[in-house]
Parts: sequence; C-alpha cells; structure tokens
Amino acid sequence: MSPTGPDRLFIDGSHGEGGGQILRTAVSLSAATGRPIRIEKIRAGRAKPGLAAQHLTAIRAAATIVGADVTGDTLGSATLEFQPGGAPVAGTYRVDVAEAREGGSAGAASLVLQTVALPLALAEGESTVTVMGGTHVPWSPPYDFLQDVWLATLRRLGLNASARLDAWGFYPAGDGEITLQIAGAPSGSAALLEPLPATDRGRLTGISGRAVAANLPSHIAQRMADRAEALLRPLGVPVRINTERVRAVSPGAWIFLKPDYEAGCAGFGGHGRRGKPAEEVAEDAVAELMAHHQSGAVLDRHLSDQILLPLAFADGPSEFTSAAVTRHLETNAWAIGQFGIAKIDIERAPDGTGHVMIFPLR
Ligand code: ATP
Repeated sequence: MSPTGPDRLFIDGSHGEGGGQILRTAVSLSAATGRPIRIEKIRAGRAKPGLAAQHLTAIRAAATIVGADVTGDTLGSATLEFQPGGAPVAGTYRVDVAEAREGGSAGAASLVLQTVALPLALAEGESTVTVMGGTHVPWSPPYDFLQDVWLATLRRLGLNASARLDAWGFYPAGDGEITLQIAGAPSGSAALLEPLPATDRGRLTGISGRAVAANLPSHIAQRMADRAEALLRPLGVPVRINTERVRAVSPGAWIFLKPDYEAGCAGFGGHGRRGKPAEEVAEDAVAELMAHHQSGAVLDRHLSDQILLPLAFADGPSEFTSAAVTRHLETNAWAIGQFGIAKIDIERAPDGTGHVMIFPLR
C-alpha cells in the first residue's frame, strides 16, 4: 500500500475469454473496494477489440457512483485507468447506452446494471438506477434473466434488490429501459449476502415462461408458446407460458423459459430474427433448458459466471454445481482473484459440468 491509498492493480484484459466481462468485473470491484485499476488489451479476444458503447456506459455509471478519475474512456480504447474518488454513494442514477455511440446502440442494459449493482449494494442507503438500451439482445442476460434468475438468487441470499422492465428494447435500435432498485448495506455491516449452498437442486416442479411479439402479429407469440409447450410435455410437469404482444422501437420475437426446481436457479431465452420461424425460436430455448436439465446441475451456465462477483462478498464460503465450466466462468474467477478478495476453486467433471467453491477472504 502506498501512503496515498491502495496500489493500482494491473489487469490483463486479454486473459482467457478476453471479452467485456473482465472489464466490467474489474470496474465493479474497483468501485466496490476503492482499489484503482489499469486494464490493458481490453476485449483483445473479440473481432472488434476495445471499448464498445455498453462497456463505456458501464464505466461511466460506475465512475459517477464513486466519483472516479477515468482515463481511456473512449470508444475503441484498449486501455483504461479507473481511480475511485471515494466510497460508492447511493442515489438516483440514469444512463443511456445510446449516448455512448453516435447513431445509438442496443448495448445490453443488464450488463451495465450488473456492473453497478455491487458497489451500490455496499453503499449506505437505497439506490435507483435506470439504464436505457437493449433489454433483450443476444449474448447478454435478458431482462427476465436479470430479474427472475440473477436477482432472484441474490434476494434469496438476503440482498434487497429488484428490477423493473419499463420499455422493451430489441436489436438494432435498443431504446428499452430497465430500472434497478437496490437497498444499500446498513452502516457497518461486514457482508452483503448469505453464502450459497447449491449442490442439490431437488425436483423439477414446473416450467413457467413468456412468449413475446413486439410490433409483430400475435400468432408469433402463440406459435412460440405452443411449440415450447409441446416439446416440454414429456418432462411431465405443469408448463405455463404466457403470450404477450408489446410495442418496441425495433420489432422482436422473444421467449423465456424458467424451470422451477425445488432449489435450482436457471433461465433460458430464444431470440427471433427475420426469416427464422417462430417454432425454431422456441426450439432454441427448449434445447438449452433440456441440456441444463440433463446436466443435473443447480446453476445454469450463465448464472454460474454472473453469481461469482456477489458471492465474493458473502458472509462465508459458497458452493454450487454448474451446468458447464465455461470460459466466462473461468475468466471471471480469475478476474476476481486478481483483487485478492476471494479464492475460487473450479473442478470440471468429465461430462463438462462443474463444482465451484468460493471462499471470501475479507
Ligand atoms: P463481448 O463478448 O462483446 O466482449 P460482453 O461485454 O457482452 O461482450 P462477455 O464477456 O461476453 O461480454 O459477457 C457476457 C455476459 O452475458 C456473461 O456474463 C454471460 O454469462 C452473459 N450471457 C450471455 N448470454 C446469456 C444468456 N442467454 N442468458 C443469460 N446471460 C447470458
């Protein structure tokens, strides 16, 4: 430690997956712990490396919350320095992913919210954060996953946080809106959450979901729901999929399926696109659900990498089985490890499933 504060931590953004998550995790942890960071080779593993609109929005939102000094926060930048000016401050915040890029962006609002959720959970007082952007875009957690899987799991562990979908945002225009409400930690509290014991998911008791057509005929939603219900029937549990017709700036078709296990946490989506039959959209989501079901794991492949960050601040060691040991999971564990706040062990079984243990070190 230097006389003026903690030493700056260097992070290699090209490590492992080499994607946006290393950056978001590093910024989130810098804001949460006060440790300044320098990240180089940002998103070196991607076809278009450097910062994109969603990353820039996440950085700026986190910087506002901790009064950070930031350099390198421009589109395409491969290097970023982030120096928090103080502890996270609870409040009302509003950011728009489209402002980060001329011509707009459908960058994922959920990924911006996940970046600021941890620092705000540690701040004293309640916060409300509204992010405008894509709410249901591929390669990111859709709103339904954020609220019904990620936050639902954290709520069970004692975090008082909830999200609301204010407007739907599909690719390419985005222009949707999600608002996160999060109660900060009471002053002086040492840990954010209870630890997660999740090695037995119990029985599958039912499947719920929704099929949505935005600016498209309602039969699209009905066909997705019908196909999913037919494919899921052999599981022998009640399946309830609501159909909805909604408005959005860009049209979209979307299905989300949530298997309800006695103690499991998972959710799977399917995105429509022009020329793709509605039935195929449903088949994509069902295939993911079935793969998860057969894995026997408690947490799905996406929740596994996303839950690591909050669990690093839990009041004791956590343990869970994961449907897959993905590069996102391994890379995020590495990024968290760089801060020395938790030790994370990942064991991969021959079938590709994982057993993950998180030991907070604070
Ligand atoms: P890039 O890949 O362009 O760098 P990125 O910033 O979106 O982009 P990634 O590092 O790929 O970052 O991280 C994407 C995150 O989105 C991961 O946490 C991953 O688990 C999550 N994710 C991807 N697809 C889904 C999905 N279908 N459901 C839930 N979460 C998802």
